[in-house]
Amino acid sequence: MNTTLIAMGIAALLAIGLVVNVAVISLLSGGFHFLFARPRLDILKSEFGDHGFAFSFSWNNAREPAKFDKVKVRLFNPFGTPTQVEVSKAFNGANSNFARDVYMGIGMKKLLAANGLGNATIEIEVSSSTDGLNQSFSYRAVKFLEMLGEATSTVKKFEGELPPAASKPLFQTVQRSFISEPLPESGKTIKLSTNPEFAGEFASAGTTKAAEENYSVSKVWIDPGCIVCNACEAIYPEVFEVTDDTCLIRPEAPLDNGLLIQEAAEACPVEVIKFTKAG
Ligand code: SF4
Repeated sequence: MNTTLIAMGIAALLAIGLVVNVAVISLLSGGFHFLFARPRLDILKSEFGDHGFAFSFSWNNAREPAKFDKVKVRLFNPFGTPTQVEVSKAFNGANSNFARDVYMGIGMKKLLAANGLGNATIEIEVSSSTDGLNQSFSYRAVKFLEMLGEATSTVKKFEGELPPAASKPLFQTVQRSFISEPLPESGKTIKLSTNPEFAGEFASAGTTKAAEENYSVSKVWIDPGCIVCNACEAIYPEVFEVTDDTCLIRPEAPLDNGLLIQEAAEACPVEVIKFTKAG
């Protein structure tokens, strides 16, 4: 009798111990993950070839809430040429795990074509301009190029693998509709600027605008003072290339779409884009 009771007691103690251990381990591993999980950057295949950089970035956004919106790729090549190249670009920011394919411009091509990379390193910095947070990843340049060459997954594929965003709750609202009495018949028309019959009356107030004819420009250039805001390149990337510290006109820039060049010039916050009309 006593032996049976003792055996049952030991079994109960062992079972309780097992449950407590499992609970402690799972709590600790979750806590470790929350406290110590490192941000992760994976290199993807860019659709811009050697002018682009595609990557995915994941981090613990519960511990470090931030909206990441800028990437910088920096080459330190002390024994090769060039010895240093740095390219950075802003992108559409994200506040949870994301992937982006960023057009980095000619600087990226220069970086990838550098010589004597035996002792070179490449640093990738993903940063948040609004939250003042940045995460850096360092690679041996040779290894980085190898990873780029082997990358097969694209941003589209990565995004397809992300869990779908939680759907927002729907709230039903009471809908009411009213049916009004028909308006009495009258031969009058309302004066609206969109009615061509009254276009002349609104022209002086600037409410109508004739469609402008496109034109070619003979020259487009950037005066000193560019603040690298990217606006012009976003509007007309075939003409404008924004680098780290200024904006350039691409060597083969098409000059036959004056309206688009004008739009970029009007969007420039410091008005440094200049051009002359052809003819
Ligand atoms: S819009 Fe103006 S300031 Fe912005 S990048 Fe272009 S030239 Fe520079």
